[in-house]
Amino acid sequence: MKTKLSSEYKASIAENISDIKRRIEQAKKQDSEVTLLLATKTVPAEAVNYATQELGVRDIGENRVQELLSKYDELEKENVNIHFIGSLQTNKVKYIIDKVCMIHSVDSLKLAAEIDRQAKKHNKVMDILVEINIGEEENKGGIAPDELEDFLEKLTAFEHLRVRGLMTIAPFWCEKADYQKYFAKTYQFFIDILPKKIHNIYKPVLSMGMSDSFETAIECGSTLVRLGTVVFGHRQYK
Ligand SMILES: *Cc1c(COP(=O)(O)O)cnc(C)c1O
Repeated sequence: MKTKLSSEYKASIAENISDIKRRIEQAKKQDSEVTLLLATKTVPAEAVNYATQELGVRDIGENRVQELLSKYDELEKENVNIHFIGSLQTNKVKYIIDKVCMIHSVDSLKLAAEIDRQAKKHNKVMDILVEINIGEEENKGGIAPDELEDFLEKLTAFEHLRVRGLMTIAPFWCEKADYQKYFAKTYQFFIDILPKKIHNIYKPVLSMGMSDSFETAIECGSTLVRLGTVVFGHRQYK
């Protein structure tokens, strides 16, 4: 199905992205690199394609397997890295293993083992991030902070996984000071624990920061921000 994007919608996406790029530049340290990843849930493929093909954004992330599969054929893939950023059920790994460049949400050995198994089948090594539940919230994915070290150790057994870094989703509706606390804590794990367990990581990735927190996250050392609402506007759930 083809929908036609309105020129107003296109203009607002373009304006939002240029504003975000400016804000990222201001928040980051001069010599650091921060990747802008567009969180594209509920966003039509055409709008995603506009952002990647005409506005030069390289990285996009889906968080539901079903939605990724339904959009996949319509997505332009030239110069685009598709990430998986949502919580992932073990039995769905097989559907995305050949479609994404990185899985941000690895938080159990069972899931890691299945990604390893599927990656092996496809003759590839899958880049992953370990999700850390930094707010230690119940009902939220991610490894508990005090289990991270042990978990990273166990991941070294999998030959078809390449741990590239950490991801976190801070508790919602935080004050800036709370975000700072959670992000600073995650950054400590990123620089202290990760290198201790995983050696020679190529360009380590710290995926943290969303629409309402990305500047704070960058100030705390994020290398990749996942943004939806500030780019595409409020999501329309059907
Ligand atoms: C939706 C989503 C985002 C983006 O959220 P916004 O607040 O709209 O920027 C980031 N990360 C994950 C895992 C998401 O599911």
